[in-house]
Amino acid sequence: MYKRFYNFDLSDEVLNALSEMGFEKPTPIQESAVPPAMEGLDIIGQAQTGTGKTAAFGIPIIEKGKRGKVPYAIILAPTRELAVQVAQELNKIGKNKGILSVPIYGGQSIDRQIRSLKKGVDVVVGTPGRVLDHIRRKTLNLKNIQTLVLDEADEMLNMGFIDDIETILKEIPTERQTLLFSATMPKEIMRIATRYMNNPKKVAVDAKNMIVLKIKQVFYEVREEYKIKALTRLLDVEDPSLTLVFCHTKREVDEVSGKLQQMGYYAGAIHGDFTQSHRDEMMDKFKKGDIEILVATDVAARGLDITDVSHVVNYSIPQNPDSYIHRIGRTGRAGKSGIAITFVTPREYRQLRLIERSAKTRIEKAKLPTRDEVRRAREQEILDEIDDIIKDENHSGYLAMVDELSNRYSQRDIAASALSLIFSDMETDEEDEVGVSDISSAKNYVRLFMTVGKRDRVKVADIVKSIASGANIPGKKIGNIALFDKFSFVEVPHDLADRVISSVDNSVLNGRKIRVQPARAKKSVALDSVRAV
Ligand code: ADP
Ligand code: MG
Repeated sequence: MYKRFYNFDLSDEVLNALSEMGFEKPTPIQESAVPPAMEGLDIIGQAQTGTGKTAAFGIPIIEKGKRGKVPYAIILAPTRELAVQVAQELNKIGKNKGILSVPIYGGQSIDRQIRSLKKGVDVVVGTPGRVLDHIRRKTLNLKNIQTLVLDEADEMLNMGFIDDIETILKEIPTERQTLLFSATMPKEIMRIATRYMNNPKKVAVDAKNMIVLKIKQVFYEVREEYKIKALTRLLDVEDPSLTLVFCHTKREVDEVSGKLQQMGYYAGAIHGDFTQSHRDEMMDKFKKGDIEILVATDVAARGLDITDVSHVVNYSIPQNPDSYIHRIGRTGRAGKSGIAITFVTPREYRQLRLIERSAKTRIEKAKLPTRDEVRRAREQEILDEIDDIIKDENHSGYLAMVDELSNRYSQRDIAASALSLIFSDMETDEEDEVGVSDISSAKNYVRLFMTVGKRDRVKVADIVKSIASGANIPGKKIGNIALFDKFSFVEVPHDLADRVISSVDNSVLNGRKIRVQPARAKKSVALDSVRAV
């Protein structure tokens, strides 16, 4: 039916803005939601992430509004990050009409928000808690609201916002248009829809739409203790632009990001325990590519739109199929292709099959790169870099050294020795002796008990650092770390345990003397259960 945005009967201001944004034609959800939304109908839109839902409600809202003093549209979104993102997109669409959209979320100074609301805002994009806060303080005038949007409604439900949302719904004039967007439609959402919406029109995009087709999905069988190694091998070989790594718990996020940093990867972390400014900073760095790997929990990463994510890694398998779809929807965005990787431990096979069945997708088994493949990838990287250096003539400063060496050696020997310098830097980890089969099979780790914990403001990364430098072993040799209030458990390879104990026991960490000894009783079983908390 509709092929292009101009078929939507939009103003030149909006059409030009869309074309400046690089939008050539509507996505399927936009195609089916924009026309009825322009007519003023209530809509329930179901489509997975990355399908362009923001513009699906954003275009009609902007098209129908104009710059004024009092908000005429309000969008509720589950997280601060998402609120910021939606406001940004609306500001782009509304640029030529001068329509101002402002995000309102917890964690930002409420006074500042009150000031900007007073100055005059056209579209408010807020998290439910903070919006309610403003309603109670009477700093948000909802009398003129013509359109209300519930974005990522299922996630707002998951986050326990349902009561807040109902309260807000009751505050907004009933003579309004209500648009509800959600990736899934649980009963609770349908209840809200029947109660607060006016004969809503349902639009859905097939679960098997273009986005999923653009994502290559693979899984690797990896044992818990080798996940880090598997991850770094994949990172080395696949050379992703930006990688989003999903973990199950906040603690796991800390662990994984800490270890990656320790090994020299540009990695960062976000989860609910970090301050808003820290999270903003991380997102910013990730978008700019200052960090290449972002390790996150589901909730923290929900709805984030980062266009260049080439790889999504399910470091721990998602707990349900919906979560799988959401996670992998972070890649393959805006027409780009992406790769979704899932680590599966042997006892998680059933979970994998369950995901495949209900997400109606196929996840192919893949083999981890071998040591040789990692090596070849590194070699190729060096060759490419040399190409660049010669092209850009960045080597001229070294020609004199080469001339001097040429008196004694052949060019071939000189070049090869120079390369060996580069590679010897990379190969310091005798760790690479561990082959694929080892990664996938049990290995002897010993659990140590350490008398430091969260209470001492110690982080996983600190423990890794203190052991790695104290015992002079590579950080990646260190296995799982479980941090408790007053103590922690650390897994180290059997053959290194004595070395770790003798060098770290009685040493000082964060101003506290620490004791280290072999932990008693249960082995990794205990750690697994700790993780699951
Ligand atoms: P969703 O809310 O469904 O997860 P978003 O609205 O965040 O998806 O859109 C995902 C990405 O696709 C964003 O970067 C957005 O700017 C881009 N996008 C949306 N619609 C189009 C379009 N018609 N053409 C090109 N890119 C688009
Ligand atoms: Mg969205």
